[in-house]
Amino acid sequence: MQVLAVASEIYPLVKTGGLADVTGALPKALSRFGIETHTLVPGYPSLLALARLHPPLMAFDDLLGEAAMLRHLEIDGLSLFVLDAPTLFDREGGPYVDQHGTDHPDNWKRFAVLSLAAAEIAAGALPGWRPDLVHCHDWQAALTPVYMRHIGSTVPVVLTIHNLAFQGQYSSTLLPYIGLPPEAYSVDGLEYFGDISYLKGGLMMADHITAVSPTYAREILSPTFGMGLDGVLNARLDRLQGIVNGIDNDVWNPATDSYLPYRYDAKTIRNKKRNKALLLERFGLEAGDGPLFSAVTRLTWQKGMDMLAEVADEILYRGGRLIVLGQGDHDIENALKSTAARFPGRMAVSVGYNEQTAHQIHGGSDAIIQPSRFEPCGLTQLYALRYGCVPVVSRTGGLSETIIDANDAALTARAATGFQFHPVRPEGLRHALRRAADAYEDRRQWARMQLQAMRADYSWDRSAENYADVYARLTRDRAQSVL
Ligand code: ADP
Repeated sequence: MQVLAVASEIYPLVKTGGLADVTGALPKALSRFGIETHTLVPGYPSLLALARLHPPLMAFDDLLGEAAMLRHLEIDGLSLFVLDAPTLFDREGGPYVDQHGTDHPDNWKRFAVLSLAAAEIAAGALPGWRPDLVHCHDWQAALTPVYMRHIGSTVPVVLTIHNLAFQGQYSSTLLPYIGLPPEAYSVDGLEYFGDISYLKGGLMMADHITAVSPTYAREILSPTFGMGLDGVLNARLDRLQGIVNGIDNDVWNPATDSYLPYRYDAKTIRNKKRNKALLLERFGLEAGDGPLFSAVTRLTWQKGMDMLAEVADEILYRGGRLIVLGQGDHDIENALKSTAARFPGRMAVSVGYNEQTAHQIHGGSDAIIQPSRFEPCGLTQLYALRYGCVPVVSRTGGLSETIIDANDAALTARAATGFQFHPVRPEGLRHALRRAADAYEDRRQWARMQLQAMRADYSWDRSAENYADVYARLTRDRAQSVL
């Protein structure tokens, strides 16, 4: 089966978060089921240097007034279609923001063009190739099924929600500029509280919708987590399914991770202590017997990092250490830094994005904290498990179903892998940190939890099979409807 995936980021070439990890890993996992994925991605500078080494596959004369080339790039087992539209994508900054952290003002156009190019490819614009199915990810690719239906393509489309908080909401005055007729602005289409929403349009038009964990798929049906789209999702309930993300076991493997000073597996886990010592030294923290807690995350309200700034003293007063790696809201950065300033030698905050440091933090930490207010799936806690770090997480979304809380029953059954807290408030997090610090005192029990964590299997195998089943059903249904 030939699949066209459409995404605004893909590991290892361009990543701001979990979306890239998923779009980078899923094609490899799906290939075991006979599914060949080609992923359409914007031609950011990091991709262009490589993609332009080869002649283009085809030219688009007019994508909302822009000319573009489609280029092909094979890298790390991925097949990419790179949309080389220099006026839109070949610029400084990140995929969504400029070098000062401000949204690119033409994001509405950049991702409409990405989706339009995908729709044209689905409809046969690329000589000699046509997908059997299109899989788009998040709002940046969500207009794809809208354009496809407009063009008349009936190729089945799956839309995956990685985070409902980001919707691509714009003024309805833009409608004529994205090449859609006035009818597209309807309650069954893009209309969203007087604006247009790319994600809503996609949710209405896709043949199947997935969210990145079963719990999140249920949560987003409620007003609390639905972010204004719960009504739409309830209306499309028969098409909505949760499939939990997996992790790329080759990229995240403590036994082979080239970023780690000392590699280890369950049998050689003592090496983790050596990584810990180096990590403490590197972050200017005092050595000591206490646990090393860490957080690797966007510093945002969603991720609950304001709460961590408030209650981190719980760890530090008890002889623990804390490392935070992340970037995001300046208020949260400042709150964390001012907590760290009260505990010199015990807490360090590194503002920035660094893949290598993220791996090293997992390689040397005892516990990873993820106190999200909502969490569609969460990957950090899955990496933590694989690296023998005990996750301390809020009980929400994917966190609730991937971590087994160390309550008495789970400890007795030797199933516990971490600590959960609920309700998601600072005092709940404080209590969970206290429980984790207490548990660390019992080293045999802690070691057992680490091993249980490392045994938890969140590789892509199972989840890829779920996607393969969805693809098979949709293409079969389409074949039957054509007959
Ligand atoms: P989200 O996509 O909502 O940010 P996830 O937990 O799904 O959260 O995925 C986050 C991904 O981004 C993980 O791969 C994590 O290691 C990575 N990450 C987050 N912040 C940083 C950072 N500051 N430096 C390096 N990697 C980071």
